Amino acid sequence: MRIDVLSLFPEFIGQSAEIGVVGRAIRRGLLSLRTWQIRDFASGVHRSVDDRPYGGGPGMVMMIDPLRQCLEAARADDSRPAHVLFMSPQGRPLSQKRLREWSLMPRLILVCGRYEGVDERFVEHCVDEQVSIGDYVLSGGELAAAVIVDALGRLRDGALGDPESARQDSFEDGLLDCPHYTRPPQHELGAVPEVLGSGDHAAIARWRRQQALGRTWLLRPDLIQRLQLSREDRRLLDA
Ligand code: SAM
Repeated sequence: MRIDVLSLFPEFIGQSAEIGVVGRAIRRGLLSLRTWQIRDFASGVHRSVDDRPYGGGPGMVMMIDPLRQCLEAARADDSRPAHVLFMSPQGRPLSQKRLREWSLMPRLILVCGRYEGVDERFVEHCVDEQVSIGDYVLSGGELAAAVIVDALGRLRDGALGDPESARQDSFEDGLLDCPHYTRPPQHELGAVPEVLGSGDHAAIARWRRQQALGRTWLLRPDLIQRLQLSREDRRLLDA
């Protein structure tokens, strides 16, 4: 999979993708990342990328042409079709389900806005989807793009030591993950639940499922409401 990020601060994306699981995925060739400086596609001595908003009001708006030329250059850099995402607080909220869908695509191009945002005509004609990382406003789309690069990087086959670990994460089956413990088994902050040291794999799986159900019910009742729980899940939840 290839991801291109269009930004006025491309170094931000490059640095955040050098470390950890995503850095490893890139070094192993499981994910290819290229960043683009939108300003390189601006004309004039000042290489302006923004201008005052029509109708007045505060702030500046990113202009169509540098964005569009940058997008076309990114598209032309690879023959595979690209799905274009614009980072925006007005977009569809990011979800693990949507990330899984994107992870099957050969190419994504992420466009990061700044200032008051970008000229609406660019969004209408050049963007396939708008995506938000939450109901708050950031000063730029780079953090949102870095979130998407990170979350997609760890979904690449071979990026994680054990591919099963991503499958067991929160949201994958609609629930939050169960709690995890490591050594020491006894500590002044508490003991590890006995069942986890029992070696009884069926009992451990049951306990984990019950914990996942219970904490999702407590912390994210909206997720539970969307699920069709089995009779066994209902029994575990009631126990
Ligand atoms: N005036 C815009 C609005 O209220 O919808 C906000 C502009 S914001 C200051 C500048 C840029 O940051 C946006 O164009 C977008 O690319 C990015 N951004 C801000 N909040 C975001 C969020 N929650 N999710 C994704 N991108 C965001």
